[in-house]
Order: sequence, then structure tokens, then C-alpha cells
Amino acid sequence: MLLEVKELVIAYGNLEAVHGVSFKVEAGELVSIIGANGAGKSSILNGIMGLVEPKAGAIFFDGKEIATLPAHRRARMGLRLVPERGVVFPYLTVLENLMVALHGERDRKTVNSRLDWVYGLFPILRERTNQEARTLSGGEQQQLAIARALVSAPRLLLVDEVSMGLMPKLVGRVFNLLQSLNREQGITILLVEQNALASLRISHRAYVLETGEMVLEGKAEDLMKEERVRKAYLGI
Ligand code: ATP
Repeated sequence: MLLEVKELVIAYGNLEAVHGVSFKVEAGELVSIIGANGAGKSSILNGIMGLVEPKAGAIFFDGKEIATLPAHRRARMGLRLVPERGVVFPYLTVLENLMVALHGERDRKTVNSRLDWVYGLFPILRERTNQEARTLSGGEQQQLAIARALVSAPRLLLVDEVSMGLMPKLVGRVFNLLQSLNREQGITILLVEQNALASLRISHRAYVLETGEMVLEGKAEDLMKEERVRKAYLGI
């Protein structure tokens, strides 16, 4: 098992946002956690990445307990987060944004081959390589945020609400891209999303999160047929 989260509790002062959730991601899987606004999706990803400190629970990455490690140690183990709204460094160029993520990689050949790889995946970024990130469109910035997480060859990609703020046309493109990263490049992905249909379509398995609790789990194709999921999340 690549990631195993057990009874995770996340609280902000007196407000408990995540009430003891447990779930797993196997190497090679694309798993999504779907849930409405405020269900606790970002809190879970931030807890796994080490950006918020869990109040209780255990997080195992590749069999090692990581819940007490600082974020940079988790990053070094191969965890990467694509934050909500694809946050990038606005005044750095596309290339500089990617190089920040490659900081610490000393081997010139590795740097060049990783850059080539992500530019191959996102050709528009190659065209924009010397352009400041703030001048990119929303969809291009989202691609840069994903590319920046990928360029350091993560073992697990955590993706926070990738559809947020994107035009419907781009949502499909970004989801297709995540699917091909998983199926063709073998990257393990944990996605959290409000857009249930788009994420269930590309996922192997999924969990449904409601007000800080996992209420359903299963194969994505089975969840799409569940009455409760269809009514609450798919609008059908
Ligand atoms: P969204 O889809 O709107 O991003 P989400 O499912 O990702 O929502 P979270 O962002 O994890 O949900 O928020 C869960 C709950 O925790 C919400 O009630 C939110 O207001 C609260 N919360 C999140 N971050 C903080 C914080 N830094 N301080 C206080 N409360 C917070």
C-alpha cells in the first residue's frame, strides 16, 4: 500500500473539520475523494502533505508513519501537492517555476530530461517558457501547477480541486490529462473534487466525504450507479 490514512482527525481550534477518516491508495491507482464545499477535502490533503497538523490519526506512506514529519521531509519522500486554483509563483517565468521545483536536483542531465518530459506533456508550457506565470491563462496556470508538481518525479500526486475556476471545456482536458498521467506514465494520484462526475469517470476507486466523514466507498463505476451519489452529486 502506498498511502494508508487511519482515523485522521483535523481540527482548527474548536472546529473539527475531519472526524476520523480512513482510506487507502495503492501504487498505480487513481483514487478520488468527492464531497461538497466545506466537506473537509483540502484539510485531508493538507494533513497528508504536512501543511496542517492532524489532531489524531496515523498516515503511512510506503509503510512509514509520516504524520509527525515536517512537509519538506514528506516532499523528499515523493509526496507532491497541486494546490487548489493551481497556485504558481506569478512573477517567475514558466521555466523558473519549474526550476524552483527542481532545486536540489544537481544532475544537469536529469534536470534537462525532466524538463523535456513535462514540456512534452504540456506543449503550451514550452511555448510559454520565458513568460511570467501571471500572464498565463487560468488553464495554463493550472497546467503549470501540475507540471511543477510532476517535474520532480513524485511517487504520489495529491491534487486539490483541479476543476475549480476552470472553464467547462478545460475541465475535460485537465481530467483527461490526469488520467493519462496515471494510465500511461504510471503516476499514483489522489484527487479531491466537488466535480463528482468528472472525477469518477477517470478514477479506479472513490470515497464520498460528507461533513468530515467518509460515507461511501467503492469502485468508481459502482459509485456512479449508487442512488445516493446520483442524487447528491451527479444531479441525475
Ligand atoms: P472546498 O471545496 O470549499 O475547498 P473542502 O471540502 O476542501 O471545501 P476544507 O477547506 O477542508 O473543505 O474545509 C473544511 C472545514 O474546515 C470548513 O468548515 C472550513 O471553513 C474549515 N477550515 C478550513 N481551513 C481552515 C482554517 N485554516 N482555519 C479555520 N477553519 C478552517
